[in-house]
Amino acid sequence: MIKAFAMRGRRIALDSIGVRSRRAWIYVLSVLALLVPAGGIAYLGAVSYGDERGAVAAQIDRQHQAALAIVGRIDRAIEDVLDAGDRSVTSGLEGALNVPLGRYWFWIDADGRIRVPHTAPPTVELERPLDRPPSGHAVDYLQELSRRQDRAAKLRAAQRAEAGSSFADAKRQYTALAGFDDTGAEALLGLARVLGHLGEAARATATLDELDKRFGERSFPKGGTEVERVPVRVVTALMRAETGDRRPAALLDIAEDVLTGHYAIDPIVGVGIVTRIRGELAGETSPTVTARLAGLGQRLETVRVAARMAAGLAEDKDELVRTATPAWRGRPAARQPGRTLIYRRRADGSIVGVAVDAGMLAAAAGHDRGDDVALHARPVVLAAGATAPPALRTIQGTQVPLGEQLPHLTMALVNPKTDPDPLDEVIRERSRRHLVFTSGLAILLGVGLLAMIRGAARARELAQLKSDFVSTVSHELKTPLTSIRMFAEMLEQGVAKGDPAKMHRYHGVIVQESQRLGLLIANLLDYAQIERGTRRYTPTVENVAQLGQHAVTTFETLRDPERGGRNPIAVTVSQEAMETDVEVDRDVVVQAVLNLLANAAKYGGVDRPIDVAIAAGATGASISIRDHGPGIPDHEQARIFREFYRTPEAYRSNVEGTGLGLALVKRHIEALGGSVDVASTVGEGATFTIHLPRPRGKEEATS
Ligand code: ADP
Repeated sequence: MIKAFAMRGRRIALDSIGVRSRRAWIYVLSVLALLVPAGGIAYLGAVSYGDERGAVAAQIDRQHQAALAIVGRIDRAIEDVLDAGDRSVTSGLEGALNVPLGRYWFWIDADGRIRVPHTAPPTVELERPLDRPPSGHAVDYLQELSRRQDRAAKLRAAQRAEAGSSFADAKRQYTALAGFDDTGAEALLGLARVLGHLGEAARATATLDELDKRFGERSFPKGGTEVERVPVRVVTALMRAETGDRRPAALLDIAEDVLTGHYAIDPIVGVGIVTRIRGELAGETSPTVTARLAGLGQRLETVRVAARMAAGLAEDKDELVRTATPAWRGRPAARQPGRTLIYRRRADGSIVGVAVDAGMLAAAAGHDRGDDVALHARPVVLAAGATAPPALRTIQGTQVPLGEQLPHLTMALVNPKTDPDPLDEVIRERSRRHLVFTSGLAILLGVGLLAMIRGAARARELAQLKSDFVSTVSHELKTPLTSIRMFAEMLEQGVAKGDPAKMHRYHGVIVQESQRLGLLIANLLDYAQIERGTRRYTPTVENVAQLGQHAVTTFETLRDPERGGRNPIAVTVSQEAMETDVEVDRDVVVQAVLNLLANAAKYGGVDRPIDVAIAAGATGASISIRDHGPGIPDHEQARIFREFYRTPEAYRSNVEGTGLGLALVKRHIEALGGSVDVASTVGEGATFTIHLPRPRGKEEATS
């Protein structure tokens, strides 16, 4: 009777504050779940469309910008090396330039002479034959010419004899020719060789000494011999080294001297000499010799390139002198089309320049992170119109001209064809991203649909609950009203006339049923207020022991023994509780305790005892109601506080109820700053405890 109101014994579910806000959320989520993926898909469509063209175009543009940046850096490297050449000329230092591209630089002075690199030094060749008439009579000239031709023929005969191993003949013939200026050098050389063959070492050495003394400052003439244009001193040194006892080391010394410029010698001739020495020592196995040979090989390459360049430059010189301006320009070298000459006129009229090849230009750009437009991307310099080697891919948009000054060259970024194409990579990356987005949106769409389906199901359920609720409440209102009307009519018709006991009972029923009606309406209003959020509380400071006792007494007064049996109630109050105040809405707490006592009576079993314990602690006080009924399984303990929830056990046992009581208790007590909990062991009963707060500001003082 006290317990809220007696509705039909089945679960009535109704919307509540929580349910209502949840429902709103479900609607919002459903709309979002449709709008977001729909918007997402539209966006993805637009992005994919734009991406197909935009991303590729953007990547090509990025590649193009990288190529332009590289060309810019090559330009700067060219300016740098020409400036370095300027400085070098100004300061008179003619060594290699210590900047990229500075390896093969040149300087043509204002008179058109190549000053760097050093070209062939002016060598005095041995005279032969007479190319100018000596002063004097023509007859003398002719006679001298004839004598010289004669001697030249004899020299060739001597050389033939030597080649035929007729050393004695050769020795004689060479000796005869040794005294003359025109044949002397070659004759002495042949003689020294022949003496060597004949084992006359001492005389051979003396012959070489004489050769040095008489012809040391000259070089052998052109004419197809193996010593053509080789300085005499180098030849004698070689002969001595060949026959000496430290042959390999001595030969290597000569080679190194040649390379370091010890002899005034045309670089091309020097290269020839060193190459020959290397050939002669090729079979040597001594580690020191092989090590020196290796070093020689490296330097030889440098000298060979410089020599070739010096030789090539001579051919280009006139063109350079004619076309040089203060602004630099470049042209392919006449003799080596792979080589580019870049040059500029200095203020003093001389020209500085560099000879570079494509690899050097590409390397001069150095490396910048912006160049990494693709895996293993690297710049190459190509002849204009040429394409990269077949194994390499020219990255799109990166083939750019090297500028007006180098019209015969272009620069391109390439990477191996075995690497992925950067544009494919861009598209693949986009596709990956789109895949992630699409799956995300698909999942979202799925979740949204699920939420919508659930929302729809929930809405249907709520509609059902609403109509159930209306009929249940009407029924619950009608039952007490019918009793009231029936007993009032019986009284009016005088059914109990003359029987005061009967009359009293009828009055009692009317009063009790009106109370039940009143409570039902009060609880409904209460619930409606809570749901709307307009429920107001009036907290007052109460002694918790008195409050608990009052609730128990009220319960005992109000309950109808005829309807529900009589459970003995034992109340224990702790000493502390007697002195403890709480700040609560008195009526609300009494109502809550009444609800719990009613449940204990209803579910605890007819006549089973109920224990009420009122206690207090540091933070507040508590009122526990314990019954000895069937108890509540663990998994039900949270659910029973939800609105309209009743356990299956409650339905089975046909106990009347609405499932609203505990929900109201929980809402009210929590609104007052307290809490409600339940502890239960199945088969041993349940204990519900209301925890109440101390008056604000008094916790410390009373604890
Ligand atoms: P009602 O009692 O109207 O069904 P309540 O909200 O008061 O609604 O209780 C909810 C449910 O909790 C009850 O239906 C019942 O199943 C269970 N319950 C409440 N109190 C007890 C108790 N003391 N012992 C066992 N079950 C209980």
